Amino acid sequence: MKDLIYLDNNATTKILDKVWDTMVPYFIQNYGNASSMHHSMGREANAAIEKARMQVAQALNCQAKEIFFNSGATEAINTVLKGIYKNYKSKGKHILTVKTEHKAVLTTLQELEKEGASVTYLDVDGSGKIKLTDLEDNITDETILVCIMAANNETGYIHPIAEIAAICNRKDTLYFCDATQYIGKIPLDLNHIPIDILCLSAHKIHGPKGIGALFLRRKSKPIQINPLIIGGGQENGFRAGTYNVPNIIGLGSAIAQMSLNLEKSEYITTLRVYLEESLSSIPEVYIHAKNTSRLPNTTSICFRHIHASELMTRCPQLALSSGSACVSGTRDPSHVLLAMGVTKEDALATVRFSLSIYSTMEEIETTIRLVRDAVTKIRENSPIWQLFQAGLIT
Ligand code: PLP
Repeated sequence: MKDLIYLDNNATTKILDKVWDTMVPYFIQNYGNASSMHHSMGREANAAIEKARMQVAQALNCQAKEIFFNSGATEAINTVLKGIYKNYKSKGKHILTVKTEHKAVLTTLQELEKEGASVTYLDVDGSGKIKLTDLEDNITDETILVCIMAANNETGYIHPIAEIAAICNRKDTLYFCDATQYIGKIPLDLNHIPIDILCLSAHKIHGPKGIGALFLRRKSKPIQINPLIIGGGQENGFRAGTYNVPNIIGLGSAIAQMSLNLEKSEYITTLRVYLEESLSSIPEVYIHAKNTSRLPNTTSICFRHIHASELMTRCPQLALSSGSACVSGTRDPSHVLLAMGVTKEDALATVRFSLSIYSTMEEIETTIRLVRDAVTKIRENSPIWQLFQAGLIT
């Protein structure tokens, strides 16, 4: 592990030392149950949770009572999509989303379709962009929710969430934004962007795994969502289960350090530009969503006529991804790239590099050298590359 160059930060991130230090006492000293209000250890745990809730609210510029803790974005997505459908289907059964959403969204919506939901999956162009007129035209009186992520986990493409929120607001439709990849990389002010529902996950922002937060805006007409997990009535009855105190403290602490990440955004961009320019000098290489607004840390590169899996096997010193971490166990091409019109072959030849504040120029230089050598070697022995060189395939 020591020499591994970790460029898979959209899958998960290293916990910050400062975050870890805030968590440790809640495992071994203040290990009380935050619902045990009749003794000091429980009360202290409870106070620490409320502090973390405040830290999340401050980072997003919303109210603490609009924040609910859960196990992460997948749970939030399930809670919101299922909860909204259950409570609003008497008003309408239509949900609008985009073909390039995370599998947590698409799989949950497919389940809801079996129960009678009608889902529109908006098309994207070659860079992952939707047409805002398509969004507007597809919102009908039957539409109960628009679900569009802030930034794509595979390509880093950033949707115009302020415009999307404005359209939904104007059309009086709830807007749910999966901001799992966006938070910590781009500033977000919920006081200025009228997003109704938002989710985030601590492990993408140098916090612990298995903890996240859901923002539910307090509106004159309260948003109705049933809890997915019921039991002891924690989180005001919205999410039952004994509080994971150390993790909640870790989330609060990670989000409070977020400005550190944001300050380093320029540095990360510099590393990415260097990586992209250097790898682009390899023949038959292109970058997905290149000339659009993208997360500063993400680059998704197609090395044509090779298999991404072979490239990664040849570079065991590098931690990379062939797309979304959640699907990389399978050999299916990325649904995101296919939706963008990328061919199956090019999708399977695509590798994602996702950097972080821990990435260094030295690591990027080593990465460039290793990848360039691996691509050259793979192509030397590749009949497909020879056919391409001979002009027999494109
Ligand atoms: N949404 C996006 C955009 C993601 O990138 C991920 C994780 O990769 C998720 C949702 C799921 O997050 P979690 O790991 O917190 O369940």
